[in-house]
Amino acid sequence: MLSIQKQEDPVEAIQRSMDAVTLAQLRRENRQLRERLDELLHQARVNEKKLRRLQHQEMELLGLDSLSEVILTLTVDYPRAFGLSRVMLVLVDVDDQIRKLFEQMRGAVQQQLRDVVLLPDSEPLDSLFGKSATPRLGGYDTHIHASLLGDLRPRPGSVAMLPLFRRGRLTGCLVMAARDTERFARDKDTYFLERLATTVAVSVESAINHERLAILGLIDPLTEINNRRFFDQRLDEEVMRTLRGKAPLACLLIDVDHFKRINDTHGHQAGDSVLQRVAALLRQHLRGQDVLARYGGEEFVALLSGTTVQRARVIAERIRLALEQKLLPLENGETLQITASIGVSLLEPMQHQGEFRQLGTELIERADQALYKAKESGRNRVIVAD
Ligand code: GH3
Ligand code: MG
Ligand code: MG
Repeated sequence: MLSIQKQEDPVEAIQRSMDAVTLAQLRRENRQLRERLDELLHQARVNEKKLRRLQHQEMELLGLDSLSEVILTLTVDYPRAFGLSRVMLVLVDVDDQIRKLFEQMRGAVQQQLRDVVLLPDSEPLDSLFGKSATPRLGGYDTHIHASLLGDLRPRPGSVAMLPLFRRGRLTGCLVMAARDTERFARDKDTYFLERLATTVAVSVESAINHERLAILGLIDPLTEINNRRFFDQRLDEEVMRTLRGKAPLACLLIDVDHFKRINDTHGHQAGDSVLQRVAALLRQHLRGQDVLARYGGEEFVALLSGTTVQRARVIAERIRLALEQKLLPLENGETLQITASIGVSLLEPMQHQGEFRQLGTELIERADQALYKAKESGRNRVIVAD
């Protein structure tokens, strides 16, 4: 706004020396510029709102583990959230891996599988998108859409096809269909859709991986995070990586305080739900590359690579505080406050001799001793091993 006022002064200053025609032209241009500015401002406001809504949807999607939840979110929640008539997911399933995962899935998602199309190879998508990550927008076209998706009824007014790329490879396509012919008109800006496509591609791949791990028996069914078996395998890898690298590996052992009391007072079900919430909260506080697992019972373990002792202490303290502050709702409407004790240990790179498996065991043992001290000295605290 300021810049417009600034521009007006010089216009007024030269106004007297100009002939009427030039002046009228300048005024007209100025008005047009203002109108354009208003338009852009309005667009920016709309975009900001859109962006916020999109961000919310993206965060939700990225927080999901199970493939069935991802499919339900995309095909049931997204049409509602974005005012669309239908959202479909096309996935390239070269060796029938995804189909096999689907066969294991039960419940509400079975019905939603009608909105998922599995392709034996990526050829149809390659010929549609080539190497381009730009979504294809336009009216419903039997030639393009029906051959890939079957005959869509009722016919959409316009369709957006978002290519899903992972590491330069086309892994699928998200189809967004709208009743409105203008919604995905060919010349519409695709910035938001490209962004969404990136999130969807990552979420779908990670959910497929999660499902594979579950089938291999490496996921804890209650909390949906890795189990002890998975952790033991990863511990070896992380120790080896640390020994070769330059930065330390931090290990956090997190044990819920007086958990037995929760079971005894509120029942085993309530106890289970506390464990689920603790797992979810821990995941929120860790990075994607960290290893989080249910170590057993009400005990969780996290491996944080490239983490100094100071940093590990800060993160552990942050987790402790978040658990203490989070009130957990119970079925009877009451809320429950929980606390946890955390033992922290570190493995420094290149200072260690010896067998990596032994070093991993020692890392856990030291975290366990620190945890024991935290319990002894009053619980709800973080202790870092010497
Ligand atoms: P502390 O503060 O010393 O850690 O006390 P605590 O009560 O948390 O520890 P304790 O080891 O005495 O009890 C752990 C309890 O966790 C006992 C066990 O029944 C319960 N538990 C273990 N696995 C599960 C589970 O999957 N669900 C539920 N609800 N409880 C579990
Ligand atoms: Mg405990
Ligand atoms: Mg315990």
